[in-house]
Amino acid sequence: RADAALHHAKAEGRDNVQFFTESLNARAAEFLQLEHSLRRALGRHEFRLHYQPQIDMRTGQLVGMEALVRWQHPSLGLVAPSKFIPVAEDTGMIVAIGEWVMLEACREAQRWRELGLADVPVAVNLSANQFRAGVRDCVARALAYSGLPANRLELEVTESLVMGAADQVIASLRELKEMGLILSIDDFGTGYSSLSYLKRFPIDRLKIDRSFVCDITTNPDDAAITTAIIHLGHNLRLHVVAEGVETRQQWDFLREQGCDQAQGYWISKPLDSEALLEFLRSWQGGLSS
Ligand code: C2E
Ligand code: MG
Ligand code: MG
Ligand code: MG
Repeated sequence: RADAALHHAKAEGRDNVQFFTESLNARAAEFLQLEHSLRRALGRHEFRLHYQPQIDMRTGQLVGMEALVRWQHPSLGLVAPSKFIPVAEDTGMIVAIGEWVMLEACREAQRWRELGLADVPVAVNLSANQFRAGVRDCVARALAYSGLPANRLELEVTESLVMGAADQVIASLRELKEMGLILSIDDFGTGYSSLSYLKRFPIDRLKIDRSFVCDITTNPDDAAITTAIIHLGHNLRLHVVAEGVETRQQWDFLREQGCDQAQGYWISKPLDSEALLEFLRSWQGGLSS
């Protein structure tokens, strides 16, 4: 009996190992396939930018826009950044993709200005590799080609990016700030929080991560963390933006706590450039309620 059990366990173990190997192989194959088609995606013009509005919580005025990349894959359809950005980072392709994102976002923001629809900063997300590749030149080119003023371009970096900061990253951030750009910390509260970097870096805004905002009205811990981030930001003379605001209740709570700005489905999902023009035309007077 014991033998039979042992035999069974071994057989199962072997199956598990085999299963494990197969799923690893499947993931590796998926990665390679994504990598392969990602390499052609730029040349085939398969990337798109969607834009999500950011709203002043007191006045209801539009105060900014975040550019979010999507990949229109010929057979997979619209691929989310969480799927392909990691592949792009691991293979170095993020540098070329990031360059495209930067130029496209600047062009579009300049178009809103020229159409008289909005004159607000457009925020672009940055990966660590882009710093190593010289983000300053990339930014300078995008501004020059598009004609967008530097103070209408914002860069979002994560805590882990600045925490692992080589002196080179700090120097880059200072240079970008001197050029007139706006800098913000994305997903604030989810990285390793040694807060000392906040005083060393020339930051303008903190974006409270969606994972805290999600349960602020039901979870007292999330409410406490969110409130603390708002106070911390204000004491450091930073603007505080809440990400992922999905309900009226979350909006009300954040507004009562003095949060400056909000971004989320409650206001609008990220929109393609055509849908965004519609949004801008209808939002022009700010919130009516
Ligand atoms: P992120 O920068 O924190 O962007 C916010 C994400 O939250 C976006 O997901 C947005 O669609 C989503 N979101 C906004 N409001 C709500 C809401 O009310 N509810 C929910 N459930 N979600 C909301 P998305 O577009 O899938 O982007 C995911 C992440 O991919 C971004 O997170 C950013 O880290 C990265 N990413 C996006 N575009 C770029 C890019 O051009 N370059 C780089 N390096 N990373 C990018
Ligand atoms: Mg972001
Ligand atoms: Mg974020
Ligand atoms: Mg986030």
